[in-house]
Amino acid sequence: MSDNLTISNLHATVDETEILKGLSLTVPKGEVHAIMGPNGSGKSTLAKVMAGHEDYEVTSGGITMDGAELLDMDIDERSREGFFLAFQYPLEIPGVSNANFLRAARQARLPKGEEIDAVAFYKEMYAKMDELGMDRKFTGRSVNEGFSGGEKKRNEVLQMMMLDPTYAVLDETDSGLDIDALKVVAQGVNAMRSPDRGFLVITHYQRLLDYIVPDVVHVLVDGRIVKTGDKDLALELEENGYDGIKEEILATA
Ligand code: ADP
Ligand code: MG
Repeated sequence: MSDNLTISNLHATVDETEILKGLSLTVPKGEVHAIMGPNGSGKSTLAKVMAGHEDYEVTSGGITMDGAELLDMDIDERSREGFFLAFQYPLEIPGVSNANFLRAARQARLPKGEEIDAVAFYKEMYAKMDELGMDRKFTGRSVNEGFSGGEKKRNEVLQMMMLDPTYAVLDETDSGLDIDALKVVAQGVNAMRSPDRGFLVITHYQRLLDYIVPDVVHVLVDGRIVKTGDKDLALELEENGYDGIKEEILATA
């Protein structure tokens, strides 16, 4: 069995406009890969295609998770099989408390007939909230409803910690965070780094990668990965901007 998340020559459209134009990359288990790219390059489109968002149509190519076809799975199955997406714009779910949401998600992972241990669940959730500097009052509040931008992003990371995914995609989890919150979130991610887990960290800015140091950096421009390198590539991008990369690519094309 291949221990990786592999995206192969992925083409995807929204409203019949092609956004992903042959995107390929592989995240082996145990590694943290970053995707950087200008606004509108297709970063969130990739994330949403992986999660199974119905607005996006895959026209060719594929995605496998440890050898299994991700795109053949229903959305809930993707999650139960170990895929997780932290949204760039987390949804609010009025009427569903944060604690009940997480509990239901965990319950759904248990074999039929098995009941979640509520005491152990709350103990674990509180410990993780403490790690993220989240007040206990967030357990009783509706999921993300009226949360600030930064609170929503922390809540996404709490979900990730509680669901313990094999492959986690974080879509601009740094946006809306001040530097202290960014450090807390990065610590949470770093604590989850493991030989049994892969991360794909999507970001527009290099700043996050000072705290979550990636093994590999991919640059996404216009629906394709145009350059792959190590963490220094992120610094280079910071220095020269995305225009520098575009010029470089045109010069070598
Ligand atoms: P990024 O996350 O890199 O900023 P996106 O993946 O959000 O970029 O968007 C890529 C392109 O696809 C943009 O031109 C955007 O307007 C378009 N797009 C994304 N989602 C939709 C949608 N649901 N309907 C129409 N256009 C969309
Ligand atoms: Mg985006």
